[in-house]
Amino acid sequence: MDYCLICTKCACVYERDSSIFRCGKCGGILEVSYDYSTLKLPKRFANAKISQKKYVPLFPVSGKLASLGEGGTSLDKAQIKGLDDNGTKLYLKVETGNPTRSFKDRGSSVEITKALEFGYTDIVCASTGNMGLSLATYSKENNMKCTIFMSRNGNREKMERIKRAGGIVIKVDGDFNAATTLAERYAKAKGAFACGDYHYRKEGQKSVAYEIVEQLHYNVPDYIFIQVGNATLIAAMYKALREFRRLKFIRKLPKLVAAQSKECDPLVRAFDSNGKIRHIAPRTIADAIAVGYPTFGNEGLEAVKKTRGAAQSVDDKAIKHYGAVLENELGVLSEPGGAAGFACFMENYACNKKAFEDKEVVVIITGNNEHRKDD
Ligand SMILES: [Zn+2]
Repeated sequence: MDYCLICTKCACVYERDSSIFRCGKCGGILEVSYDYSTLKLPKRFANAKISQKKYVPLFPVSGKLASLGEGGTSLDKAQIKGLDDNGTKLYLKVETGNPTRSFKDRGSSVEITKALEFGYTDIVCASTGNMGLSLATYSKENNMKCTIFMSRNGNREKMERIKRAGGIVIKVDGDFNAATTLAERYAKAKGAFACGDYHYRKEGQKSVAYEIVEQLHYNVPDYIFIQVGNATLIAAMYKALREFRRLKFIRKLPKLVAAQSKECDPLVRAFDSNGKIRHIAPRTIADAIAVGYPTFGNEGLEAVKKTRGAAQSVDDKAIKHYGAVLENELGVLSEPGGAAGFACFMENYACNKKAFEDKEVVVIITGNNEHRKDD
């Protein structure tokens, strides 16, 4: 796999063998850049079972993927009263079907593969919970030490799950961004591999978009609603869709809609004011997307603007209500952070049915690690 790393801020280029997690010059976020002409790709990714592994040619890995069977989640048509009459087709991409019940496993498979390739035995990351649980699970499987920095005010149930999965939890005074600063310091001081919302995780998370396109038989939907915390997923999906267009698998891009909680909506505020993203103190019940200053915020904004989508917020009451609709009417269990995109679509639909007439809409249900009934 031929690739290099490019700083998204100052365009500085780094060799593929570098295990750095930010630009050494300006501290900017890096992006994996491929020489697409050298990729050995099938004509289309058809005729094979959908799973994370089949997209290895589009990941920056040299050999076998560290995998626990992530990916290959279902894309189901949702039967909601009134939608069919309007010609609206709504599909739910249910990421709770991943090994640790969130989309984070897709990123973890690539990150852990890279940590193994670079020879690390010690990894560290900042998390609101789901990423920490995912990394602790993948680390244990690969005999690695895993340290997770979490806000002291974070989800206690998730902290306990991380510990049970073998991770070491370090509680931080402050929010997710404060935890990120400390995790990066730990990586430098201890020589640990910094996992989290960086370039390798973003690559692994691209597969959500690849799968949606493949499951819709290469017909691109009109809209995809994606909840945004650190904005890595929306940035990854935007990159994946552009790759598929570049490779001529698809011709157009769907409109990407970023959904946030009104109680933590820095991306929406920047979109509405056409200004810069500014840190705000997160207060939402949707802890999985409680990020006051998203690392991939600028990439997320670019994704919604370039696809002529939008960034919109919904209040916590609506997130709770539509989470219950998902569970009771559609049989899909989701935590609040995993249901925000669905709530955002349903509120939009209630206000403007006409906009969704004869449209195909995909909503991603990103995770469920709260109130699990199995333990
Ligand atoms: Zn830079």
